Amino acid sequence: MKSRHSKILSLLQTAVCFLSIVFSTNSFSEVPKLTAAINTFCKNMDVHFKKYNWDKSNCEKYDWIHVRNSVLGEPLTWTVFGDVSDEEKPTFKQKDISIIMCGVHGDEITPIKFCFDIMAYLKEIYDNPEVINKEFSNKIVIVAPLVNPDSFFKARPSRINARGVDVNRNFPTKDWARDARRLWIANFRKDKRRNPGFAANSEPEVIFQMNLIKRYGPDKIISVHSPLTMLDYDGPNTIVGGLVNGAKAHELLIQMSKDASDYKIENYPFFPGSLGNWAGKERDIPTYTLELPTSDPSKSEQYWKLFKSAIHNAIAHDLKEKNSEKINVKSEEKPDIKTGSIPVGSTTRIEDNKASDNDPSRTESVN
Ligand SMILES: [Zn+2]
Repeated sequence: MKSRHSKILSLLQTAVCFLSIVFSTNSFSEVPKLTAAINTFCKNMDVHFKKYNWDKSNCEKYDWIHVRNSVLGEPLTWTVFGDVSDEEKPTFKQKDISIIMCGVHGDEITPIKFCFDIMAYLKEIYDNPEVINKEFSNKIVIVAPLVNPDSFFKARPSRINARGVDVNRNFPTKDWARDARRLWIANFRKDKRRNPGFAANSEPEVIFQMNLIKRYGPDKIISVHSPLTMLDYDGPNTIVGGLVNGAKAHELLIQMSKDASDYKIENYPFFPGSLGNWAGKERDIPTYTLELPTSDPSKSEQYWKLFKSAIHNAIAHDLKEKNSEKINVKSEEKPDIKTGSIPVGSTTRIEDNKASDNDPSRTESVN
């Protein structure tokens, strides 16, 4: 009887050991209950990929980090390329960090596939030590391919989120309280597609973007939209506090355009509550908005071919000033930097689709 018990005990121990190995190699092991949510999310992704005649997303092959949900309970997720094991240590500040976001506006279909193409490309790079050592040894890339899942997973995708808010007009920028609703009413006649919400920073999709930026302190942000056919830059134009080199950031803008057959560069105006305003203008983080030419899903492959080297070079391009430490992007006390050599457009455009949002009023350190 005793030996039978010990056999059962031994079997149980083996099972526990096996399970712990399984979970320790699973990146979602810390919160295993989230695995089901991510699995559902990935299946949903593939249903939509099929709808647009795209190849499989391979969504389930990435390690997702999932802390926060959308209004309708979809995971707001991101994946990391590069070694972030020293995230809490000073060495992390020396790394060159890029955040790439897509799907801020769910009716802009092409950017979502574009982010998955970037991820597939990066997976190959980061699986190859030789390539990493050559160009990407110090590079961390954070990709959030679908910032606004509720708007994309609908039968008829929309720009706004499930509460009817444009999540690129809801960042808590300094001008939000004064201008966001006033301009929406005066200039946009309460266009439902550009509703900034009743209060800044009210939407989980905005908090998600802000917290991603606060958590990783990126050296640059690339936000992908469509269909305005242009590259836009928001951020420092000169050296700011000896830390962020605006000249290098501009060099990169021009490089990206050249890499993509002289893609049009346009200086778009700031909007209250936009990502470019919150991250680029108010926090001096070089923020690039890439507007793909159309939202036509059949053009996705063509767009990835056009921008592949631009994205590669953008990630590899180090914007840090030599011998300087990373700027503290978490600070809320930075003075407002007036744009210098590059004039900011003065007119407000109805067709603006710029997609970046950051909001400093929340204090959570993760998404
Ligand atoms: Zn957009």
